[in-house]
Amino acid sequence: MFQKILIANRGEIALRIIRTCKEMGIKTVAIYSTADRESLHVRFADEAVCIGPAASSQSYLSIPKIMAAVEITNADAVHPGYGFLAENAEFAEICTEYGIKFIGPTPDQIRKMGDKITAKETMIKAGVPVVPGSGGLLQDLATGHKIANEIGYPIILKATAGGGGRGMRIVRNEEEFEDLWNIARTEAKAAFSNDGMYIEKYIEEPRHIEFQIVGDQFGKVVHLSERDCSIQRRHQKLVEESPSPFMTPELREKMGNAAIAAGEAINYEGVGTIEFLVDKYRNFYFMEMNTRIQVEHPVTEEVIDHDLIKEQIKVAAGIPISGKNYYPNLHAIEVSINAEDVYADFRPSPGKITSLHTSKGHGVRVDTHVYAGYTVPPYYDSMIAKLICKAQTREECITKMERALDEFIVEGVKTTLPFHKLLMKNEDFRKGNFHTGFLNTFNMGKPNE
Ligand code: ADP
Repeated sequence: MFQKILIANRGEIALRIIRTCKEMGIKTVAIYSTADRESLHVRFADEAVCIGPAASSQSYLSIPKIMAAVEITNADAVHPGYGFLAENAEFAEICTEYGIKFIGPTPDQIRKMGDKITAKETMIKAGVPVVPGSGGLLQDLATGHKIANEIGYPIILKATAGGGGRGMRIVRNEEEFEDLWNIARTEAKAAFSNDGMYIEKYIEEPRHIEFQIVGDQFGKVVHLSERDCSIQRRHQKLVEESPSPFMTPELREKMGNAAIAAGEAINYEGVGTIEFLVDKYRNFYFMEMNTRIQVEHPVTEEVIDHDLIKEQIKVAAGIPISGKNYYPNLHAIEVSINAEDVYADFRPSPGKITSLHTSKGHGVRVDTHVYAGYTVPPYYDSMIAKLICKAQTREECITKMERALDEFIVEGVKTTLPFHKLLMKNEDFRKGNFHTGFLNTFNMGKPNE
């Protein structure tokens, strides 16, 4: 087992990883930018190294600085968390060259899944259904037009290097193709320095249902059932739950097998997520694979009662997995509490948290790095906490979530709490009647209404 793990991340996920390391008797090293000096992950790690100024490019994304921190602290493994360098094959490769274990898949596995077109090709070979589409990079606008006509509108233009919903545009007819093509390419170029685009059939009113998988170093891959992440705003997940209210035992079997086939196709090592779109007829299509721990992993942890970070560390240390799939025993829902103003188009609302009370009680979990007096910096993502509730049934879980949301008090910054409170009361949400476009027509109303 590892002696000391450096956590190449910040915020709640860094703290989450520190907690498991402590329970496993592994020493931890936190890294932080000058903007994060007061963050809890810095306080709770055994050692902490300041690696640079606030800008991520000079701190959390700077491989040389992180490797220097690894060297001076004598860490023998690196946990990348999610975001930042978590899916950066070069970083994984450099760690390996230094003899440091990167807790995650191999550089080759990251590359195979990081490029969405290559990933789709791999899945087709493995017999996993994929969304019909161009099957490769679009050479030019004219080819794009031609393929879109063949597939039939609406289509979705996607950046091969895409992530976080960027570089993606829904095109409803031929007339708007050219404009949206230009916008998506410019966005992709700016965000990923890669404007390679491809086309997919736009699936109408789909659900986003993803499967958690774990693979070990001996070629064994299992699934840990699904998470429904259809409650999204501009393709960004806001609420996740397991099991999916849309799931049937038959569909779970089929999708679970497809997820395992996807992992086996690349001999996947580590925890990973296979994302699918599911249409209203319960046809499912592979969308992409995330080769890291996800923000929403606690949902799965709660319904199968397993620590996924521990699994991840054990697999990285060469311990074989048990080889059985896991099925949910309970219902869990996670909501992201972001420092954003929901009445002003979810605009970020950084600043000092003057007062904080987090929800407590049976079946309630809060993962957060903030506290009263903490200043939310404007430089990183705006998530300040994840609130996770679990109960015997979905209905009880929603009721518990309403209770927990009422107890969660944040003063000083605006948060997404009012949105979640409204959502939990929504008839369609309560019935499990929703798809990825659900929030497009969701009415936030006015403050204090
Ligand atoms: P990113 O990597 O940027 O998050 P994804 O490929 O995971 O992009 O897609 C994000 C979201 O966009 C999905 O959850 C879904 O809501 C929507 N989406 C993506 N592809 C399609 C498609 N072919 N049809 C309909 N919706 C799609």
